[in-house]
Amino acid sequence: MRFDFSPEDEAFRLEVRSFFQEHLPRDMARRFHVGAHPPARADIRAFQAMLHARGWGAPHWPVAWGGTDWSPLRKHIFMEELYEADGLDYSWQGLHMVAPVLIAFGSEAHKRRFLPPMIRGDEFWAQGFSEPGAGSDLASLRTRAELVGDEWVVNGQKIWTSDARMSEWGFFLVRTDAGVKPQRGISFLLIPMDTPGITIRPITSIEGGTGLNEVFLENVRVPRGNLVGEAGMGWTYAKYLLEKERTASAFLYFNKRELEKARVIAAGVRVGAGRLIDRPEFSGRLARVEVDVQALEYSVLRVLSQETSHRNLDAVVSALKLRGSMLQQRVTDLQVDAMGLHALRFWEHGEGEVIAPEQAATWPESVPGRTAGALIARASTIYGGSQEIQKNIIAKLAFGL
Ligand SMILES: Cc1cc2nc3c(=O)[nH]c(=O)nc-3n(C[C@H](O)[C@H](O)[C@H](O)COP(=O)(O)OP(=O)(O)OC[C@H]3O[C@@H](n4cnc5c(N)ncnc54)[C@H](O)[C@@H]3O)c2cc1C
Repeated sequence: MRFDFSPEDEAFRLEVRSFFQEHLPRDMARRFHVGAHPPARADIRAFQAMLHARGWGAPHWPVAWGGTDWSPLRKHIFMEELYEADGLDYSWQGLHMVAPVLIAFGSEAHKRRFLPPMIRGDEFWAQGFSEPGAGSDLASLRTRAELVGDEWVVNGQKIWTSDARMSEWGFFLVRTDAGVKPQRGISFLLIPMDTPGITIRPITSIEGGTGLNEVFLENVRVPRGNLVGEAGMGWTYAKYLLEKERTASAFLYFNKRELEKARVIAAGVRVGAGRLIDRPEFSGRLARVEVDVQALEYSVLRVLSQETSHRNLDAVVSALKLRGSMLQQRVTDLQVDAMGLHALRFWEHGEGEVIAPEQAATWPESVPGRTAGALIARASTIYGGSQEIQKNIIAKLAFGL
């Protein structure tokens, strides 16, 4: 197995690196480096517009809609450089979730209406799948949509809807037929978030952020044409959506970048006459996490290099999600442990900005956002399929249990 990249791929890496050096404003990169969550909408928009202007707004989309023809390896290099430059990897629900569904199953009118503003960063999307009582068991969802004349009338409630208040649009799973097997009666509906009858209530999460929401839908009227594909096929489209980004949920690039921050923090902390990073208890822990992050990287590269041919890809994807999300918690715990008692002082933040006390001037730049980051990382083993659900999938598909 060769571990080096071809000269062409290395040249590509330099091209991406110099693009970020020239075009990513330093103050914006600094905000992303600190890691306020969610990032300010103006920053998300400006960053996306910058990428789009270069033709890199959605590298995984087909070229005809503004994507690239990069190999999986080039996409990997691009993501490495994006994280290395402290760029933003954010508009997931739009660019990575609903867009592939529209491209595969949407009408031409859907594609023309929704893809251009999405890739420009002009319109944001929320994902309305989970409900109280329908998370892991999503097929039991109860929000219903009834066709009345030329409109769908939607009633029900969604929960944990990330970014609902800053999004123009939502893609919702709704029950359109209660008389068939649960998975068969679900449809995929696009709803403007400012439609009368929608009430959005923020949920404050553990780190103090308010990106999560409850969404109540009461007699919400949506044009018939906002249904994607066929009625009753929503479950199939949702599964396609979740399968589309096979290695993304490994959080590889996040883990690599945050590990580096942990190292920088620990190198700056004095313990007696020495540095924390040189203490065997800490350096041993750091090394173990580093080895696991590296193993994750080679696993991701292996999946990328045989993207369509792996015998049991679904089990592999679940293993990557499980491993990557648990690592996310170990890496961010390392950061917080390195900060010691100081970590308690840094987590307060207002809308889109992390506030550090004055005396933090001597700490590395990334420190103020780390406690919030570690708290948010608790959620990574829940969203996108919980830890237990991933283990069930692996047990069934990989071991036939
Ligand atoms: C930060 C965050 C952001 C989110 N963003 C969105 C979003 O934008 N849109 C959206 O639709 N949803 C979103 N979610 C919801 C997320 O998808 C659900 O929380 C997740 O699917 C789990 O569902 P649940 O919360 O109902 O828990 P439950 O399904 O009730 O699970 C509770 C516990 O039981 C365990 N469990 C459940 N079933 C089994 C089983 N069969 N075997 C073993 N253990 C089991 C679970 O692992 C978990 O530990 C988000 C969640 C979080 C935390």
